[in-house]
Amino acid sequence: MADPTAGATKTTTLGYVNRNGQLVVQATGLSGTDHGQYVYLLRCSKCQTEYGANGSDIFQRLCPKCQGGRSGLAF
Ligand SMILES: [Zn+2]
Repeated sequence: MADPTAGATKTTTLGYVNRNGQLVVQATGLSGTDHGQYVYLLRCSKCQTEYGANGSDIFQRLCPKCQGGRSGLAF
């Protein structure tokens, strides 16, 4: 767990679940596609799909499979 930002804010705390039922599983430590952001591994609590997302997107992220969200980031 090399990501220095893990747990830095509420929405990047492992175990956080956003309003769409998306769970923060792991901080990958990889750079995301948004400025200064890291990729986090999220899991959908409805269909169990796992995908990568920018830390800044977690609070509003929708599942790419069952909620019509954007495709997940590589991780
Ligand atoms: Zn889903």
